[in-house]
Amino acid sequence: MNISNRELRYLVVIKEFNDKGSGATIFGIAKSLGVSTSSAYEEINHLMRKGLVVKRDYGIYITEKGIKEINELIKAHRVVETLLVRAGIDPDKACELARMFDESLPKEVVEKLYEYLGKPEKCPHGHEIPVS
Ligand SMILES: [Zn+2]
Repeated sequence: MNISNRELRYLVVIKEFNDKGSGATIFGIAKSLGVSTSSAYEEINHLMRKGLVVKRDYGIYITEKGIKEINELIKAHRVVETLLVRAGIDPDKACELARMFDESLPKEVVEKLYEYLGKPEKCPHGHEIPVS
């Protein structure tokens, strides 16, 4: 994956603000994630350099690339969870374990696992697995 779980948490929060029709603010992001405004500020600059978010009209917005990266990491997480649960691991434990390495799996491997599992539509928690 091209993003880490930490970056994912930021992107998901920013997307939530955007989905409600407004740009995210540093203060709002920091509050949602329970981090200081200075760490939020630093992380946003980092995400901007990676082209995952942009600043526009006083707000922070996720880019197409950012949305694509979110979907890829969510897919990796849910595919790994599905695999672990099918192997007999408890769903909550599977979630915890998947988080340890989902972000380091190459996209091709995730796709192979996804096909191997028969392209499941939902993860063990009933959340949708993105198609691509
Ligand atoms: Zn999970």
